[in-house]
Amino acid sequence: MAYIPVSVGDVVQLRKPHPCGSYVWVVVRIGADIGLRCQKCGRRVLLPRGEFNKRLKAFVSRAETPPAAPEVPPER
Ligand SMILES: [Zn+2]
Repeated sequence: MAYIPVSVGDVVQLRKPHPCGSYVWVVVRIGADIGLRCQKCGRRVLLPRGEFNKRLKAFVSRAETPPAAPEVPPER
């Protein structure tokens, strides 16, 4: 399965609203899970990549610059 490329700082819209009523989330962490912060209430959640792909509706904005660290740290 191909994953949607996503960067820290991207602002995304999900298909279902947070209980606070906001659909808009900021990407705060990339890894095996995607860390998202609700733009309205500030609550943080972690979604597995597959779940994130399913819930993602649209990108509201993309990060201006790519993150300094690679998205996937090299495995040893
Ligand atoms: Zn919220």
